[in-house]
Amino acid sequence: MHVRKDDTVLILSGNDRGKQGRVLKVFPDKNRIIIEGVRFIKRHTKPSTKNQSGGIVEKEAPINASNVMIVCSKCGEPTRIKRREITEEGHKHHTRACVKCGEVF
Ligand SMILES: [Zn+2]
Repeated sequence: MHVRKDDTVLILSGNDRGKQGRVLKVFPDKNRIIIEGVRFIKRHTKPSTKNQSGGIVEKEAPINASNVMIVCSKCGEPTRIKRREITEEGHKHHTRACVKCGEVF
């Protein structure tokens, strides 16, 4: 997945188009992510030890990761990511770089 936890992303489609938020959680097997403060769903809950009265709880709903664009932490622009596999001291790992300013994150 191109999105990781704690990335800031811009939403490209749906009711929340144009909003930005921090990624709270990723579900790589479903290609879905949860973004802080975006797309709340209401859930009816039964009383529990955490929420003694029960009732309606608002919760962030997962959205499809292909509907977001990463916002570069350096230039602050929504950007595409350049992925590169690098080998360093015998270890392979992936880097992501902003196509606009080249910042690696
Ligand atoms: Zn950038």
